[in-house]
Amino acid sequence: AVTLGLFAGLMELSRRRVNFSLLTFIGLFLGVGVGYVFRDHVRYIDPIGQAYVKLLMAVVAPLVIVSILSSITSLGSTSQLRTIGGRSVFWLLMLNFIAILLTLGLSLALKVGDGADLATQGVPTETLDEFKESFTQVFLGFFPSNIVEDISENNVIPIIVASVAIAVALTLVGERRPEAVAPVKALIDGGREIIFKVVGFVIKLTPYAVLALTASAASKTALDADTLRPLLALTVVGYLACFADTYLVNSVVLRVWADVRPVTFFRKIFPAQLTAFTTQSSAGTLPVTTGLLTRKIGVPADIAGFTAPLGTTIGMPGCAGVWPILLAVYTVNGLGLSYGLADYAVLVLLALVVSLGTAGVPGTATVTATTVFAAAGLPLEVIILTLPISALVDMARTMTNVTAAAVASTVVARGEGRLDDAVFDAPDEETAVA
Ligand code: ASP
Repeated sequence: AVTLGLFAGLMELSRRRVNFSLLTFIGLFLGVGVGYVFRDHVRYIDPIGQAYVKLLMAVVAPLVIVSILSSITSLGSTSQLRTIGGRSVFWLLMLNFIAILLTLGLSLALKVGDGADLATQGVPTETLDEFKESFTQVFLGFFPSNIVEDISENNVIPIIVASVAIAVALTLVGERRPEAVAPVKALIDGGREIIFKVVGFVIKLTPYAVLALTASAASKTALDADTLRPLLALTVVGYLACFADTYLVNSVVLRVWADVRPVTFFRKIFPAQLTAFTTQSSAGTLPVTTGLLTRKIGVPADIAGFTAPLGTTIGMPGCAGVWPILLAVYTVNGLGLSYGLADYAVLVLLALVVSLGTAGVPGTATVTATTVFAAAGLPLEVIILTLPISALVDMARTMTNVTAAAVASTVVARGEGRLDDAVFDAPDEETAVA
Protein backbone atom coordinates (compact mmCIF):
# COMPACT_ATOMS: atom_id res chain seq x y z
CA ALA A 1 0.00 0.00 0.00
CA VAL A 2 2.84 2.36 0.83
CA THR A 3 4.48 1.67 -2.52
CA LEU A 4 1.21 2.23 -4.36
CA GLY A 5 1.00 5.57 -2.55
CA LEU A 6 4.49 6.42 -3.78
CA PHE A 7 3.50 5.51 -7.35
CA ALA A 8 0.48 7.80 -7.03
CA GLY A 9 2.77 10.56 -5.75
CA LEU A 10 5.05 10.16 -8.77
CA MET A 11 2.02 10.31 -11.08
CA GLU A 12 0.89 13.54 -9.45
CA LEU A 13 4.36 15.06 -9.94
CA SER A 14 4.32 13.93 -13.55
CA ARG A 15 0.90 15.53 -14.01
CA ARG A 16 2.37 18.77 -12.70
CA ARG A 17 5.01 18.53 -15.43
CA VAL A 18 8.00 17.96 -13.17
CA ASN A 19 11.15 17.48 -15.28
CA PHE A 20 11.47 13.86 -16.48
CA SER A 21 15.04 13.36 -15.22
CA LEU A 22 14.14 14.74 -11.82
CA LEU A 23 11.15 12.41 -11.70
CA THR A 24 13.37 9.43 -12.55
CA PHE A 25 15.69 10.47 -9.76
CA ILE A 26 12.87 10.69 -7.29
CA GLY A 27 11.91 7.17 -8.43
CA LEU A 28 15.47 6.07 -7.76
CA PHE A 29 15.59 7.45 -4.23
CA LEU A 30 12.14 6.14 -3.36
CA GLY A 31 13.18 2.75 -4.77
CA VAL A 32 16.24 2.60 -2.53
CA GLY A 33 14.09 3.43 0.49
CA VAL A 34 11.39 0.91 -0.39
CA GLY A 35 13.98 -1.81 -1.00
CA TYR A 36 15.67 -1.23 2.34
CA VAL A 37 12.51 -0.97 4.40
CA PHE A 38 10.38 -3.70 2.86
CA ARG A 39 13.11 -6.17 1.91
CA ASP A 40 11.44 -9.49 0.89
CA HIS A 41 8.02 -7.91 0.38
CA VAL A 42 9.41 -6.02 -2.59
CA ARG A 43 8.64 -9.08 -4.70
CA TYR A 44 5.04 -7.82 -4.93
CA ILE A 45 6.15 -4.87 -7.08
CA ASP A 46 8.75 -6.85 -9.04
CA PRO A 47 6.35 -7.43 -11.97
CA ILE A 48 6.14 -3.66 -12.55
CA GLY A 49 9.84 -3.47 -13.37
CA GLN A 50 9.70 -6.64 -15.42
CA ALA A 51 6.72 -5.38 -17.40
CA TYR A 52 8.65 -2.23 -18.30
CA VAL A 53 11.60 -4.26 -19.57
CA LYS A 54 9.21 -6.35 -21.70
CA LEU A 55 7.64 -3.19 -23.14
CA LEU A 56 11.06 -1.77 -24.00
CA MET A 57 11.86 -4.92 -25.94
CA ALA A 58 8.46 -4.73 -27.65
CA VAL A 59 9.07 -1.28 -29.16
CA VAL A 60 12.56 -1.97 -30.51
CA ALA A 61 11.63 -3.59 -33.86
CA PRO A 62 8.72 -1.29 -34.82
CA LEU A 63 10.77 1.76 -33.91
CA VAL A 64 13.74 0.75 -36.03
CA ILE A 65 11.57 -0.14 -39.02
CA VAL A 66 9.55 3.09 -39.14
CA SER A 67 12.58 5.31 -38.40
CA ILE A 68 14.61 3.91 -41.28
CA LEU A 69 11.76 3.69 -43.79
CA SER A 70 10.55 7.23 -43.15
CA SER A 71 13.95 8.93 -43.13
CA ILE A 72 15.20 7.32 -46.34
CA THR A 73 11.95 7.65 -48.27
CA SER A 74 11.54 11.31 -47.27
CA LEU A 75 14.21 12.24 -49.84
CA GLY A 76 11.94 11.35 -52.72
CA SER A 77 14.40 10.84 -55.58
CA THR A 78 17.51 8.74 -56.06
CA SER A 79 19.56 11.73 -57.24
CA GLN A 80 18.85 13.49 -53.93
CA LEU A 81 19.37 10.19 -52.17
CA ARG A 82 22.87 10.11 -53.65
CA THR A 83 23.85 13.73 -52.98
CA ILE A 84 22.23 15.28 -49.91
CA GLY A 85 21.16 11.86 -48.58
CA GLY A 86 24.54 10.21 -49.12
CA ARG A 87 26.49 13.11 -47.61
CA SER A 88 24.14 13.37 -44.62
CA VAL A 89 24.23 9.66 -43.79
CA PHE A 90 28.01 9.63 -44.25
CA TRP A 91 28.57 12.54 -41.85
CA LEU A 92 26.04 11.42 -39.28
CA LEU A 93 27.64 7.96 -39.19
CA MET A 94 31.16 9.39 -39.27
CA LEU A 95 30.43 11.62 -36.25
CA ASN A 96 29.08 8.58 -34.42
CA PHE A 97 32.10 6.51 -35.42
CA ILE A 98 34.43 9.13 -33.92
CA ALA A 99 32.31 9.28 -30.74
CA ILE A 100 32.48 5.48 -30.46
CA LEU A 101 36.28 5.46 -30.73
CA LEU A 102 36.59 8.39 -28.32
CA THR A 103 34.37 6.68 -25.72
CA LEU A 104 36.15 3.39 -26.13
CA GLY A 105 39.55 5.01 -25.60
CA LEU A 106 38.34 7.11 -22.68
CA SER A 107 36.53 4.33 -20.83
CA LEU A 108 39.36 1.85 -21.31
CA ALA A 109 41.94 4.40 -20.17
CA LEU A 110 39.86 5.31 -17.12
CA LYS A 111 39.10 1.63 -16.42
CA VAL A 112 35.34 2.20 -16.19
CA GLY A 113 33.66 -0.61 -14.21
CA ASP A 114 36.81 -1.75 -12.43
CA GLY A 115 35.74 -2.71 -8.95
CA ALA A 116 32.04 -2.73 -9.84
CA ASP A 117 31.92 -6.46 -9.07
CA LEU A 118 28.79 -6.97 -11.13
CA ALA A 119 28.70 -10.68 -10.36
CA THR A 120 27.49 -9.92 -6.82
CA GLN A 121 24.69 -7.72 -8.16
CA GLY A 122 22.71 -10.36 -9.97
CA VAL A 123 24.57 -10.28 -13.30
CA PRO A 124 24.96 -13.92 -14.39
CA THR A 125 28.51 -15.20 -14.59
CA GLU A 126 28.01 -18.91 -15.10
CA THR A 127 27.53 -18.44 -18.83
CA LEU A 128 30.50 -16.13 -19.36
CA ASP A 129 31.76 -18.04 -22.38
CA GLU A 130 28.40 -17.81 -24.09
CA PHE A 131 28.42 -14.02 -23.88
CA LYS A 132 31.00 -13.80 -26.59
CA GLU A 133 30.01 -14.64 -30.12
CA SER A 134 32.52 -15.56 -32.81
CA PHE A 135 33.13 -13.05 -35.60
CA THR A 136 31.50 -15.43 -38.10
CA GLN A 137 28.38 -15.56 -35.95
CA VAL A 138 28.23 -11.77 -35.73
CA PHE A 139 28.83 -11.43 -39.49
CA LEU A 140 26.09 -13.92 -40.37
CA GLY A 141 23.83 -12.20 -37.87
CA PHE A 142 23.78 -9.14 -40.14
CA PHE A 143 21.74 -10.91 -42.80
CA PRO A 144 18.02 -11.51 -42.66
CA SER A 145 16.82 -14.97 -43.65
CA ASN A 146 13.22 -14.70 -42.59
CA ILE A 147 12.29 -11.16 -41.66
CA VAL A 148 9.22 -12.23 -39.68
CA GLU A 149 11.38 -14.51 -37.57
CA ASP A 150 13.93 -11.71 -37.09
CA ILE A 151 11.19 -9.36 -35.92
CA SER A 152 9.75 -11.96 -33.56
CA GLU A 153 13.19 -12.57 -32.08
CA ASN A 154 14.17 -8.89 -31.99
CA ASN A 155 17.26 -9.41 -34.16
CA VAL A 156 17.71 -5.72 -34.84
CA ILE A 157 20.67 -5.79 -37.21
CA PRO A 158 18.96 -7.89 -39.93
CA ILE A 159 15.83 -5.78 -39.42
CA ILE A 160 17.92 -2.66 -40.17
CA VAL A 161 19.44 -4.26 -43.28
CA ALA A 162 16.02 -5.31 -44.61
CA SER A 163 14.49 -1.87 -43.87
CA VAL A 164 17.27 -0.03 -45.72
CA ALA A 165 16.82 -2.34 -48.75
CA ILE A 166 13.05 -1.82 -48.77
CA ALA A 167 13.39 1.98 -48.41
CA VAL A 168 15.87 2.24 -51.30
CA ALA A 169 13.68 -0.03 -53.47
CA LEU A 170 10.64 2.08 -52.60
CA THR A 171 12.47 5.23 -53.71
CA LEU A 172 13.51 3.58 -57.00
CA VAL A 173 9.99 2.32 -57.76
CA GLY A 174 8.55 5.72 -56.73
CA GLU A 175 10.63 7.48 -59.36
CA ARG A 176 8.98 5.58 -62.18
CA ARG A 177 5.54 4.98 -60.69
CA PRO A 178 4.84 7.49 -57.89
CA GLU A 179 1.19 6.42 -57.71
CA ALA A 180 2.21 2.85 -56.82
CA VAL A 181 4.18 3.88 -53.73
CA ALA A 182 2.05 6.83 -52.55
CA PRO A 183 -0.18 4.76 -50.21
CA VAL A 184 2.86 2.94 -48.80
CA LYS A 185 4.58 6.26 -48.07
CA ALA A 186 1.46 7.60 -46.38
CA LEU A 187 1.35 4.44 -44.28
CA ILE A 188 5.01 4.85 -43.32
CA ASP A 189 4.60 8.50 -42.31
CA GLY A 190 1.48 7.80 -40.27
CA GLY A 191 3.09 4.69 -38.81
CA ARG A 192 6.14 6.65 -37.73
CA GLU A 193 4.05 9.17 -35.84
CA ILE A 194 2.03 6.44 -34.15
CA ILE A 195 5.04 4.32 -33.15
CA PHE A 196 6.87 7.37 -31.79
CA LYS A 197 3.81 8.07 -29.63
CA VAL A 198 3.84 4.48 -28.36
CA VAL A 199 7.57 4.72 -27.55
CA GLY A 200 6.74 7.93 -25.69
CA PHE A 201 4.15 6.03 -23.59
CA VAL A 202 6.72 3.41 -22.65
CA ILE A 203 9.44 5.92 -21.83
CA LYS A 204 6.96 7.82 -19.63
CA LEU A 205 6.80 4.74 -17.41
CA THR A 206 10.54 4.96 -16.66
CA PRO A 207 10.33 6.68 -13.23
CA TYR A 208 7.86 4.03 -11.96
CA ALA A 209 9.96 1.20 -13.39
CA VAL A 210 13.07 2.73 -11.84
CA LEU A 211 11.30 2.77 -8.47
CA ALA A 212 10.36 -0.91 -8.79
CA LEU A 213 13.67 -2.07 -10.26
CA THR A 214 15.77 -0.13 -7.73
CA ALA A 215 13.63 -1.39 -4.85
CA SER A 216 14.21 -4.93 -6.02
CA ALA A 217 17.98 -4.35 -6.39
CA ALA A 218 18.24 -2.53 -3.04
CA SER A 219 16.35 -5.29 -1.24
CA LYS A 220 18.87 -7.86 -2.42
CA THR A 221 22.16 -5.95 -2.34
CA ALA A 222 23.82 -3.65 0.08
CA LEU A 223 23.64 -0.28 -1.67
CA ASP A 224 26.80 0.91 0.01
CA ALA A 225 29.61 3.16 -1.13
CA ASP A 226 31.30 0.25 -2.90
CA THR A 227 28.26 -0.32 -5.11
CA LEU A 228 27.57 3.35 -5.76
CA ARG A 229 31.11 4.47 -6.54
CA PRO A 230 31.39 2.71 -9.94
CA LEU A 231 27.94 4.03 -10.93
CA LEU A 232 29.02 7.54 -10.04
CA ALA A 233 32.23 7.08 -12.02
CA LEU A 234 30.17 5.85 -14.96
CA THR A 235 28.08 9.03 -14.83
CA VAL A 236 31.17 11.24 -14.72
CA VAL A 237 32.82 9.44 -17.66
CA GLY A 238 29.52 9.62 -19.58
CA TYR A 239 29.50 13.41 -19.18
CA LEU A 240 33.18 13.63 -20.01
CA ALA A 241 32.76 11.66 -23.24
CA CYS A 242 29.70 13.69 -24.27
CA PHE A 243 31.37 17.06 -23.66
CA ALA A 244 34.66 16.03 -25.27
CA ASP A 245 32.77 14.80 -28.31
CA THR A 246 30.51 17.86 -28.51
CA TYR A 247 33.22 20.49 -28.19
CA LEU A 248 36.57 18.99 -29.16
CA VAL A 249 35.63 16.59 -31.97
CA ASN A 250 33.07 18.92 -33.51
CA SER A 251 35.49 21.87 -33.39
CA VAL A 252 37.93 19.97 -35.60
CA VAL A 253 35.18 18.83 -37.98
CA LEU A 254 33.73 22.33 -38.26
CA ARG A 255 37.12 23.89 -38.91
CA VAL A 256 38.32 21.35 -41.45
CA TRP A 257 35.15 20.34 -43.32
CA ALA A 258 32.83 23.32 -42.93
CA ASP A 259 35.45 26.07 -42.75
CA VAL A 260 33.63 27.97 -40.01
CA ARG A 261 34.73 29.27 -36.60
CA PRO A 262 33.73 26.66 -34.01
CA VAL A 263 33.32 29.18 -31.17
CA THR A 264 30.83 31.24 -33.22
CA PHE A 265 29.02 28.06 -34.24
CA PHE A 266 28.63 26.91 -30.63
CA ARG A 267 27.45 30.35 -29.52
CA LYS A 268 24.80 30.40 -32.23
CA ILE A 269 23.62 26.84 -31.62
CA PHE A 270 23.59 27.19 -27.80
CA PRO A 271 19.78 27.59 -27.42
CA ALA A 272 19.30 24.21 -29.17
CA GLN A 273 21.86 22.59 -26.86
CA LEU A 274 20.10 24.01 -23.84
CA THR A 275 16.71 22.83 -25.08
CA ALA A 276 18.18 19.37 -25.68
CA PHE A 277 19.71 19.32 -22.20
CA THR A 278 16.46 20.18 -20.48
CA THR A 279 13.97 18.20 -22.63
CA GLN A 280 16.17 15.14 -23.26
CA SER A 281 14.62 14.85 -26.70
CA SER A 282 16.39 15.51 -30.00
CA ALA A 283 13.07 15.20 -31.81
CA GLY A 284 11.46 17.71 -29.44
CA THR A 285 14.38 20.11 -29.97
CA LEU A 286 14.11 19.86 -33.76
CA PRO A 287 12.18 23.12 -34.37
CA VAL A 288 14.85 25.05 -32.43
CA THR A 289 17.68 23.24 -34.23
CA THR A 290 16.36 23.83 -37.75
CA GLY A 291 15.39 27.43 -36.88
CA LEU A 292 18.93 28.21 -35.72
CA LEU A 293 20.54 26.38 -38.64
CA THR A 294 18.66 28.37 -41.26
CA ARG A 295 18.58 31.79 -39.58
CA LYS A 296 21.88 31.93 -37.71
CA ILE A 297 24.22 29.42 -39.32
CA GLY A 298 23.23 29.88 -42.98
CA VAL A 299 22.21 26.32 -43.86
CA PRO A 300 19.60 26.31 -46.70
CA ALA A 301 16.10 25.28 -45.55
CA ASP A 302 15.96 22.09 -47.64
CA ILE A 303 19.22 20.77 -46.16
CA ALA A 304 18.38 21.84 -42.59
CA GLY A 305 14.93 20.31 -43.06
CA PHE A 306 16.38 16.99 -44.13
CA THR A 307 19.71 16.48 -42.34
CA ALA A 308 18.64 17.72 -38.90
CA PRO A 309 15.56 15.43 -38.67
CA LEU A 310 17.64 12.57 -40.09
CA GLY A 311 20.07 13.27 -37.25
CA THR A 312 17.35 12.46 -34.74
CA THR A 313 17.21 8.86 -36.02
CA ILE A 314 20.62 8.19 -37.63
CA GLY A 315 24.02 8.73 -36.02
CA MET A 316 23.11 10.02 -32.56
CA PRO A 317 26.62 9.79 -31.05
CA GLY A 318 25.37 10.31 -27.50
CA CYS A 319 22.77 7.58 -27.57
CA ALA A 320 24.25 5.10 -30.06
CA GLY A 321 27.96 5.80 -29.51
CA VAL A 322 28.80 6.98 -26.02
CA TRP A 323 26.19 5.07 -24.03
CA PRO A 324 26.32 1.50 -25.42
CA ILE A 325 30.13 1.54 -25.58
CA LEU A 326 30.49 2.94 -22.08
CA LEU A 327 28.13 0.30 -20.68
CA ALA A 328 29.89 -2.46 -22.62
CA VAL A 329 33.30 -1.51 -21.19
CA TYR A 330 31.68 -1.20 -17.74
CA THR A 331 30.38 -4.77 -18.15
CA VAL A 332 33.65 -6.16 -19.48
CA ASN A 333 35.61 -4.66 -16.57
CA GLY A 334 32.93 -5.23 -13.96
CA LEU A 335 32.69 -8.94 -14.79
CA GLY A 336 36.36 -9.35 -15.62
CA LEU A 337 35.59 -10.65 -19.15
CA SER A 338 38.59 -11.19 -21.38
CA TYR A 339 37.94 -8.93 -24.34
CA GLY A 340 40.38 -8.68 -27.23
CA LEU A 341 40.77 -6.37 -30.19
CA ALA A 342 38.38 -8.41 -32.35
CA ASP A 343 35.68 -8.27 -29.65
CA TYR A 344 35.98 -4.49 -29.43
CA ALA A 345 35.92 -4.26 -33.23
CA VAL A 346 32.59 -6.14 -33.18
CA LEU A 347 31.24 -3.71 -30.56
CA VAL A 348 32.27 -0.69 -32.67
CA LEU A 349 30.59 -2.18 -35.73
CA LEU A 350 27.40 -3.02 -33.84
CA ALA A 351 27.08 0.47 -32.32
CA LEU A 352 27.55 1.95 -35.77
CA VAL A 353 24.90 -0.25 -37.39
CA VAL A 354 22.46 0.26 -34.53
CA SER A 355 22.81 4.02 -34.99
CA LEU A 356 20.99 3.67 -38.31
CA GLY A 357 17.65 3.43 -36.53
CA THR A 358 17.16 5.21 -33.22
CA ALA A 359 14.66 7.78 -31.95
CA GLY A 360 15.27 11.19 -30.45
CA VAL A 361 13.08 10.82 -27.38
CA PRO A 362 14.08 10.60 -23.69
CA GLY A 363 15.74 7.36 -22.73
CA THR A 364 16.21 5.81 -26.19
CA ALA A 365 19.81 4.97 -25.33
CA THR A 366 18.39 2.15 -23.20
CA VAL A 367 16.99 0.67 -26.42
CA THR A 368 20.23 1.13 -28.38
CA ALA A 369 22.30 -0.31 -25.53
CA THR A 370 19.91 -3.27 -25.28
CA THR A 371 20.31 -3.91 -29.00
CA VAL A 372 24.11 -3.74 -28.92
CA PHE A 373 24.25 -5.94 -25.81
CA ALA A 374 21.90 -8.53 -27.27
CA ALA A 375 23.86 -8.69 -30.55
CA ALA A 376 27.24 -8.79 -28.77
CA GLY A 377 26.01 -11.39 -26.31
CA LEU A 378 26.51 -9.18 -23.24
CA PRO A 379 24.20 -9.55 -20.20
CA LEU A 380 21.19 -7.22 -20.34
CA GLU A 381 21.05 -7.12 -16.52
CA VAL A 382 23.74 -4.41 -16.57
CA ILE A 383 21.46 -2.09 -18.53
CA ILE A 384 18.78 -2.49 -15.88
CA LEU A 385 21.29 -1.87 -13.07
CA THR A 386 22.43 1.36 -14.70
CA LEU A 387 18.95 2.57 -15.68
CA PRO A 388 18.74 5.25 -12.95
CA ILE A 389 21.94 7.00 -13.95
CA SER A 390 21.08 6.64 -17.63
CA ALA A 391 18.40 9.27 -17.09
CA LEU A 392 20.98 11.66 -15.66
CA VAL A 393 23.42 11.18 -18.53
CA ASP A 394 20.51 11.52 -20.99
CA MET A 395 20.78 15.32 -20.72
CA ALA A 396 24.39 15.33 -21.92
CA ARG A 397 23.65 12.60 -24.50
CA THR A 398 20.82 14.57 -26.05
CA MET A 399 22.96 17.72 -26.23
CA THR A 400 25.62 15.63 -28.00
CA ASN A 401 23.08 14.22 -30.46
CA VAL A 402 21.58 17.60 -31.29
CA THR A 403 24.98 19.24 -31.77
CA ALA A 404 26.10 16.41 -34.06
CA ALA A 405 22.98 16.80 -36.21
CA ALA A 406 23.64 20.54 -36.47
CA VAL A 407 27.30 20.00 -37.33
CA ALA A 408 26.41 17.39 -39.97
CA SER A 409 23.87 19.80 -41.54
CA THR A 410 26.51 22.54 -41.70
CA VAL A 411 29.16 20.27 -43.21
CA VAL A 412 26.66 18.95 -45.79
CA ALA A 413 25.66 22.52 -46.73
CA ARG A 414 29.32 23.45 -47.19
CA GLY A 415 29.95 20.28 -49.21
CA GLU A 416 27.06 21.20 -51.53
CA GLY A 417 28.56 24.69 -51.83
CA ARG A 418 25.44 26.23 -50.30
CA LEU A 419 26.41 27.48 -46.83
CA ASP A 420 25.52 31.17 -46.58
CA ASP A 421 28.59 32.79 -44.95
CA ALA A 422 26.86 36.18 -44.78
CA VAL A 423 24.28 34.69 -42.38
CA PHE A 424 26.96 32.88 -40.36
CA ASP A 425 29.05 36.04 -40.02
CA ALA A 426 26.12 38.36 -39.21
CA PRO A 427 25.96 39.61 -35.60
CA ASP A 428 23.36 37.74 -33.54
CA GLU A 429 20.93 40.63 -33.21
CA GLU A 430 20.50 40.82 -37.01
CA THR A 431 19.35 37.24 -37.30
CA ALA A 432 16.35 36.63 -35.10
CA VAL A 433 15.06 33.08 -34.67
CA ALA A 434 11.33 33.43 -35.15
N1 ASP B 1 17.29 11.39 -25.31
C1 ASP B 1 18.18 11.21 -26.40
C2 ASP B 1 17.74 12.03 -27.59
O1 ASP B 1 16.59 12.38 -27.72
C3 ASP B 1 18.36 9.79 -26.76
C4 ASP B 1 19.10 9.10 -25.65
O2 ASP B 1 20.31 9.30 -25.55
O3 ASP B 1 18.50 8.37 -24.86
O4 ASP B 1 18.55 12.33 -28.44
